[in-house]
Amino acid sequence: MPREKNPLEAKGPPERESTVRADLRRELEHGPATAHELSSSVGIREREVAGHLEHLSRSLEARGGKLVVRPAACLECGYLFRERKRFTTPGRCPRCSSERIAPPAFSVESG
Ligand SMILES: [Zn+2]
Repeated sequence: MPREKNPLEAKGPPERESTVRADLRRELEHGPATAHELSSSVGIREREVAGHLEHLSRSLEARGGKLVVRPAACLECGYLFRERKRFTTPGRCPRCSSERIAPPAFSVESG
């Protein structure tokens, strides 16, 4: 059965969401930070960070800014995940299969 459209969703994100994103943006203006660092400075779970970053990226682009990603890197062979579109840490290196991956770091560039 398809999920009913929730009329509340049409009103946009709840207050807490926009507060989180404003906090994230402030943190990112101070320089590159990983999801782990952002989760503790903003007070959200680490696995929630990527979703907020996706929204933040879109709203920055709409205003001529940009979310800058320093790519995740393999700690074994130095492979850089430059093409990765998602904001999460990759699980495994495609070149050497190592699971020792340094997470991506994020910052903002205003337009
Ligand atoms: Zn590797």
